[in-house]
Amino acid sequence: MDRPAPPPLGHDPLSAFFWEGARAGELRIQRCQRCGTYIHLPRPICRNCQSFDLAGEKVSGRATLYTWTQTFKAFHPFYVDRVPFLLATVTLADQPGLQLLTNLVGIDEPDVRIGMELEVQFEDLGEYVIPVFAPVAAVIS
Ligand SMILES: [Zn+2]
Repeated sequence: MDRPAPPPLGHDPLSAFFWEGARAGELRIQRCQRCGTYIHLPRPICRNCQSFDLAGEKVSGRATLYTWTQTFKAFHPFYVDRVPFLLATVTLADQPGLQLLTNLVGIDEPDVRIGMELEVQFEDLGEYVIPVFAPVAAVIS
């Protein structure tokens, strides 16, 4: 039996750079080209200087763990054989308070610690690629 497709992304021109970056193996975050502020989730205008000159830029891929939860319930057929998995909010190293909702991989839930150092990896779901984060020691390059 074929595996169910992941939930559709939809078509959002504001976040297209994010998904194209993930496909290329880069974590790209929207950045104001006028004042340099990173913005996530992508928006049409800079919240710092009100500029419309925004673009996706590659960031370091380094982060620390802000918080997490373990998910046991599959709310979409795609996730039935993926539960349990770890959902996490990470703070990217590139700007204070710059956070991303992601999956935590390469670690078992009892070993997870707030503030642990993480690094981005990319998981190919077929339809699209998602950035996920693993403990720095678990990153295989
Ligand atoms: Zn700005």
